[in-house]
Amino acid sequence: MNKLKKELLSEKNTNYFLEQIAGPLAPSVVKIFNNEALSPEDISKRLKQKITTVRSTLNSLHYRGIACYKKQRNDKNMYEFLWEIKFKKIIEILLLQEMKKYKKNEDSINDKEVHDFFYCPNKCTEVAFEIAAAYDFKCPTCGKGLEVVNTKNKLTNLKKQNKQIAENIKKLESLIEKIKDNTNGYVCE
Ligand SMILES: [Zn+2]
Repeated sequence: MNKLKKELLSEKNTNYFLEQIAGPLAPSVVKIFNNEALSPEDISKRLKQKITTVRSTLNSLHYRGIACYKKQRNDKNMYEFLWEIKFKKIIEILLLQEMKKYKKNEDSINDKEVHDFFYCPNKCTEVAFEIAAAYDFKCPTCGKGLEVVNTKNKLTNLKKQNKQIAENIKKLESLIEKIKDNTNGYVCE
């Protein structure tokens, strides 16, 4: 398999994502594509899996624009379906997911840096300063005095996470530039 595609598929994130959208067989199905189109029968034989499982995996991947097909006549003049994988599409979706995660963390970081949060020592509630003030700094559930949350650890964690996500995004962006697909003439969505 092409080095770049191998790199993409060696990522834990990629495999997890493929399993999430198309089931446990999805990573293996994507991995056996090596610059040649395959029929469901080919895949079924190579992976020693039921043809029905292979077909449903391909269909789920197709639903997300990742597996693409073309219909053609074989030597017995019967129609067969040939499939290809659009690796750029996998990266596109992963990129979107990572950017969303990054943004969410960033909002959370800003929020925690600007506002103090208060919690009930009995674990009933955790609220922002304004709300705690409205409660007169007493827990609305149990009446105990609210205490200020130490956000330092949470902030450190979120920042660490985002550093990693940013590196991941950079990697994916360079992959999407370089990776080549053979999906011309195929139906992808
Ligand atoms: Zn309470």
